[in-house]
Amino acid sequence: MADTTRLSVTNQQVINAIYKAAKSVGRNGWDLLSRAGLTSLVRDRQGLYRGPDIEALPGLTAQEKALVREALGLPAEVPQPETPPPAALLTNQQMINAIYKAAAALGKDGWDLLRRADLVHLVRDRQATYEGPAVDALPGLSAAEKAQVKIALGLPAEVSPPEEPTPSGEFTHQQLINAIYKVAKSAGLNGWSLLRAAGLTYLVRDRQAVYRGPAIDDLPGLSSVQKAQVKAALGLAEETVPPSIPQITNQQVINAIYQTARATGQQGWTLLSRAKLTHLVQDRQGAYQGPAIDDLPGLSDDEKTRLKEILGLPAGGPPKPATGETEVAAGIEGKIKWQGPSPNQEPTRYGHPIEMIVMHYTASGSTAGTVSWFMNPASKVSVHYVVGRDGEIVQLVKDECRAHHAGQGPLPGQSEEIGERRRKRNRIIQPNSRSLGIEMVNWGPLQKRGDKYYTWMGSECPGEVVLKNGTYWQAYTDSQLASVIQLVSHLCRKHNIPAQYPPLGPGTFDPDDKTLATFKGILGHSALDNQKRDPGPHFDWDRLLAGVRENLGQS
Ligand SMILES: [Zn+2]
Repeated sequence: MADTTRLSVTNQQVINAIYKAAKSVGRNGWDLLSRAGLTSLVRDRQGLYRGPDIEALPGLTAQEKALVREALGLPAEVPQPETPPPAALLTNQQMINAIYKAAAALGKDGWDLLRRADLVHLVRDRQATYEGPAVDALPGLSAAEKAQVKIALGLPAEVSPPEEPTPSGEFTHQQLINAIYKVAKSAGLNGWSLLRAAGLTYLVRDRQAVYRGPAIDDLPGLSSVQKAQVKAALGLAEETVPPSIPQITNQQVINAIYQTARATGQQGWTLLSRAKLTHLVQDRQGAYQGPAIDDLPGLSDDEKTRLKEILGLPAGGPPKPATGETEVAAGIEGKIKWQGPSPNQEPTRYGHPIEMIVMHYTASGSTAGTVSWFMNPASKVSVHYVVGRDGEIVQLVKDECRAHHAGQGPLPGQSEEIGERRRKRNRIIQPNSRSLGIEMVNWGPLQKRGDKYYTWMGSECPGEVVLKNGTYWQAYTDSQLASVIQLVSHLCRKHNIPAQYPPLGPGTFDPDDKTLATFKGILGHSALDNQKRDPGPHFDWDRLLAGVRENLGQS
């Protein structure tokens, strides 16, 4: 996990966070610590915090928990309270969260929405009380967007008509809920948990409304198989890659245009208009009978190429120059989806060569949520690659650029001495300048309550769980590991990085700065930083190295 999605915090950091939260709501720090049942933390301030998840702390209000989480620098996306805090107690962070959530529900970009609402300045002081305009008075937002922000804040909102057709057939909230529950049941999962993973619990507030959220394919937290099952349960056409043009439906062309628009930062409807294809929405299930993609008006060559790629059509155009890469590399390059550049990167490596590959887990549940976090300037973190639980690979920073995923500065609550020690180690090892970062979507450690497992955010974690070193962890998936092996093989070959682990092992912290300063190979974030546990003891390092060496012909 990257620096500010930290889970491993010391007792001192939690104490500091509670005091900070107390101060910002005008309360006494020690009282808040007592209410949270955490006074015992002062007995071992430098120890790793092993208490309940922040969400599960007794005696704190939702507002106080949110403030503690923010003070700990935990990710912005937090479960919204069922009822809103009084308007006067809304923090800037909560407003940012609501805007991002609204954007996600509408399939739009959170940062763009924040910018349009003229609220970018909120990121400068996240814990301050929000003092901006009422939601209805925000400039630059449509009625539908304001309604979604209000829903995200738990405020009553009239359901507004969508401004543009969604790239899917119409169905009600209740129908989607039913579909999700059906899919969950068939896999032995809890329906509500799956609904939550997909970010859709808000549907129950207005069950008869027509669903206007993201396309099923864009829902977070669902595997590609689950998405296909949901679509089948909704009676939507199963999307298969069409072998030739006559078998493409209008809906598939619409979907492809929307996907292309998203990839290039545009509105789907705008691109559809430019291509003079808005009439397709009148007969979504009909066979596409418009012009060939190459003959569509108003589209750039790049947009046409993307469209053809998404529709599975032959690319045409000039053949790509031979790269001399092996089949492994050629295969993986087509599989990597470029969704960058993240704003949180530097265009140079300051003269350092690429020598290491650092493995992380995201401490989150979905690729989309993770990508949105790394694309958010406020997070200040970035990584080159994100590998989803379904094996999807997304790239956010070009290899030759420096991402922010493994740097070591002082952490809140640490003594000046430890902080300086970390800075010095960072200067010697230069982890960000010398490495490529790979984040694997995984919640990391889980807490067991009854027969269920919960993430650090307090959400239930469905699926396979492994018990390692006395801790429960969310399992990595087979498709995820297969993609990671493919990706690491490709990067080792491309940058001439040796397929090897550091002397103490890939996951073990090596206190000797000089060893890692000259190390070339693959390692975990936990080997670089003793405040990190990722990718965790449940990650199959043996399988990774065996797979990579086999691909490189070194087995
Ligand atoms: Zn990490």
